[in-house]
Amino acid sequence: MALLEVKDLEVYYGMIQAIKGVSFKVNEGEVVALIGANGAGKTTILHTVTRLLEAKRGSVVFDGKDITKTPAHKIVSMGMAHVPEGRRVFANLSVLQNLKMGAYTRKDKNEIEETLKNIYKRFPRLEERQNQLAGTLSGGEQQMLAMGRALMSHPRIILMDEPFGAVDPLNRANLQNEFLKIQKQLKKTVIFVTHDIDEAMKMGDKIAIMSKGILRNFASPEDTLLSDDEFVKSFLGSETYIKILSRFRVKEHMRPQNGADIPYHADCEANLRDVLAQMIEYGTDSMHVTEKGKITGTILLSDILNLFQKGRKGE
Ligand code: ATP
Repeated sequence: MALLEVKDLEVYYGMIQAIKGVSFKVNEGEVVALIGANGAGKTTILHTVTRLLEAKRGSVVFDGKDITKTPAHKIVSMGMAHVPEGRRVFANLSVLQNLKMGAYTRKDKNEIEETLKNIYKRFPRLEERQNQLAGTLSGGEQQMLAMGRALMSHPRIILMDEPFGAVDPLNRANLQNEFLKIQKQLKKTVIFVTHDIDEAMKMGDKIAIMSKGILRNFASPEDTLLSDDEFVKSFLGSETYIKILSRFRVKEHMRPQNGADIPYHADCEANLRDVLAQMIEYGTDSMHVTEKGKITGTILLSDILNLFQKGRKGE
């Protein structure tokens, strides 16, 4: 059974219809990346699921219960956490006080301490600054805190609106990675809004593409990249087929070591997009594959290009 099911949702702002019959299902432990142009309806979807907005038609079913009419204040105790756009932290409370606020629906002190430790382990910056006023944190740190606070409520699902938007590229990759680790470890279900297709592909188990209130795609990153749908293709842009390569690891496509004298090495965990870029830069058609410094196989340019062509043809 899906943890969250949205059925034939229609949402209006006055006379303006913002959501036009959207349906999708999210399974427990899945991460859904919700992407689309400005005004596509992404925030409206999050707000309708968390009951900040009323649906005109359709339903939202969470953990088997129809919550279409459930009051918004009951949503947190049912296991939903919402991290709205912009760093919504309590500026005049300390980092620790902000985090503890997130756990207000929980009773077990030991479990709360355990969650706090886990959050501090993933986001050490928050521990370093636990007594600092949240309003004095940087944009990225406040974003981290907003996520941490959501995790403190021990939710079954977290809905986040552009959680990595205010973070610089270096810290952004770090924050994404740490969030993914904590999400996997705690098996959280997540829906997050992004404007960054690479971020969606990296983090999402499902890619939901919205356009003008309509859900145009709800599929795995691989199926999204190989979609025949003209809208999806044009949305992803000309780099589509190259992007698919970043989903594959060298170790999944290497051949046995062929004994050739090759001066170039690729780590077995590297993705094929990066390795292709290296091969083009070095002007080589093969590289040794290494695992912990030991050569374990060979990766061929022709194999990577075949995969690329298959993607192009939608095979
Ligand atoms: P963005 O990427 O710019 O944040 P979005 O995909 O989240 O956009 P929404 O904020 O959900 O889009 O808006 C969907 C549509 O509903 C837009 O056409 C928007 O103008 C309209 N809309 C949103 N909020 C309101 C409101 N309070 N009153 C009237 N129309 C609104």
